[in-house]
Amino acid sequence: MTAKDKLDELQQMMREEQGLSADGTTAPDYGYSCDYCKEKAHYDAQTISGLWAFMCDQHFAEHTHKRLGWGFGQRLVPITD
Ligand SMILES: [Zn+2]
Repeated sequence: MTAKDKLDELQQMMREEQGLSADGTTAPDYGYSCDYCKEKAHYDAQTISGLWAFMCDQHFAEHTHKRLGWGFGQRLVPITD
């Protein structure tokens, strides 16, 4: 891991703490359910087959390349207001 990767990771963590999604890795969680098991969804992401789906942690790990960002997927963050 390069210094830039570490910096990117740190900035990403800070953005997530603030609930921001400027880089497209997070999206508001409106209470979606996993398309595979109907558990609470934590991701809206493109699966390996190319389709998009809401997924819990387990199915995100099983059915995607575990990549987040614009065009790949978003981690759903609870709405705070
Ligand atoms: Zn699931």
